[in-house]
Amino acid sequence: MRFDLITIFPEFFAGPLEHGIVRRARETGLVEVHVQDLRVFTKDRHRTVDDRPFGGGEGMVLKPEPLFEAVEALLSQSVSDAPKLNNDGPKTAIVLMSAAGRLFNQETARRYAQLERIIFICGRYEGVDERVAEHLATDEISIGDFVLSGGELPAMMIVDAVTRLLPGALGNEASSQNESFTGAADPECHTLHPVDSASHQSSVTSHALLDFPHYTRPADYRGWSVPEVLIGGNHAEVAKWRRAAALEKTHRNRPDLLSSGRET
Ligand code: SAH
Repeated sequence: MRFDLITIFPEFFAGPLEHGIVRRARETGLVEVHVQDLRVFTKDRHRTVDDRPFGGGEGMVLKPEPLFEAVEALLSQSVSDAPKLNNDGPKTAIVLMSAAGRLFNQETARRYAQLERIIFICGRYEGVDERVAEHLATDEISIGDFVLSGGELPAMMIVDAVTRLLPGALGNEASSQNESFTGAADPECHTLHPVDSASHQSSVTSHALLDFPHYTRPADYRGWSVPEVLIGGNHAEVAKWRRAAALEKTHRNRPDLLSSGRET
């Protein structure tokens, strides 16, 4: 899988790409990450990427020309209208990072993990000329209901979330099938949240629980002891406890995930 990150701060990604699972996935060739300096696609002496907003108001807006040309150069083809890009099935996404986009979640990550390539457009300043959302990007995505100063962190979060879902990225494949938002908070409970290709496009997330609590040694730390059942070695009891604990935690921290009533 290939990721391209179009940014005015190419150095930004040096740290995040060099650690943990993303680093290993790059080293083993599971993913290829290219960082593209937007200013390469400017034509003036000052390498201008932004301009004042039509209609007045604060701040600056990223101009459309360098962004269109950067994406076209990466695709080696002109993009008259990117939403039409994938005639033979969606293999490439052009994702505009935007606080005003659709919310990213684990279901989006699973969908993206099926693609061959994702090109991220990282906004800055007041944002990006709207024609990029309308005619260049295939998706306009927000990572949460808050405003950041740039699209680099959001894009990196998506690279991370998608990479760890690729077969072979995690040491233990069960890890990505048995975690928050993926449904099988209880590994015994496959029927509740089947994680397979058929359920892939459906809204699994709305029924998924948060992960169950994890504990490791020491069994007693400052008088706080690990739940007895986890030490006992009875797998059925452990599975039961984990499911109940995941439900309790979901109720406490994310009641919205249970609002369908299916888990209650
Ligand atoms: N004026 C915009 C915010 C611009 S912030 C608004 O009110 O919606 C500058 C850039 O940061 C955006 O273009 C976008 O690329 C990125 N950004 C900020 N918050 C984000 C979020 N929650 N999700 C994804 N990208 C975000």
